[in-house]
Amino acid sequence: MLQTLARTAGAVTFALAVLAALPARADDLHVVIRLYDMATGDAAGRAAAMRTAADAIASAGLRVTWRDCSRGGAAHPCRTVRDAGDLVVRVMPARAAHGSVAAVAAEDAEVQLGFAPVDPAGGATVIATVYYDAVQQVASRTGLRVPDLLGRAIAHEIGHLLLRAPGHGQSGLMRPLWTDDELTQNRSGDWTFSEAERRQVQAVARESAASPTPSSADGGDAEAAGR
Ligand SMILES: [Zn+2]
Repeated sequence: MLQTLARTAGAVTFALAVLAALPARADDLHVVIRLYDMATGDAAGRAAAMRTAADAIASAGLRVTWRDCSRGGAAHPCRTVRDAGDLVVRVMPARAAHGSVAAVAAEDAEVQLGFAPVDPAGGATVIATVYYDAVQQVASRTGLRVPDLLGRAIAHEIGHLLLRAPGHGQSGLMRPLWTDDELTQNRSGDWTFSEAERRQVQAVARESAASPTPSSADGGDAEAAGR
């Protein structure tokens, strides 16, 4: 906890320094996300999920430009080279079975909706993954529309890539665990970035825009989010 607080304080200081150095241009902060939907087979649902995810990411002051690289998608098959700073999200049918005892033991209690590698050193990682079977399972038992939950899971995992910091928030979109009660209540405040996260996302986005660096898909710290 102490470590988390220290890291947050450092991030805020950094954000203020960057804000002081650059003029405020919140309107032109945007991120390109390439979507590879290999699971839903539902173009309308995918479009709805992209709108939901973009709305959530907009709460961090970032506009999303989608490249739908999915089969049947507007940008399929996305053969162009990915620009530095562009992110990728894959919607997979299911999480690959690794035979991990821990994963099996936790399976009944927590359903993992997605994964995003995060570099503890703050380097860029670019690929997030969401598991469609888990999204369907949780949506079904909480009465949520599948595209809504899919979009929020995408926004959460992309959030890790945008924040470039390990760990989770205490509330809002970036909290680590989404309970069935919270999902059923569906409060709007549960699906937005916090003010501190918003500043961090904008600082990272401005830094990336000022000095684009080659991205790495490899991260160190595994995201262990449950629902
Ligand atoms: Zn997470």
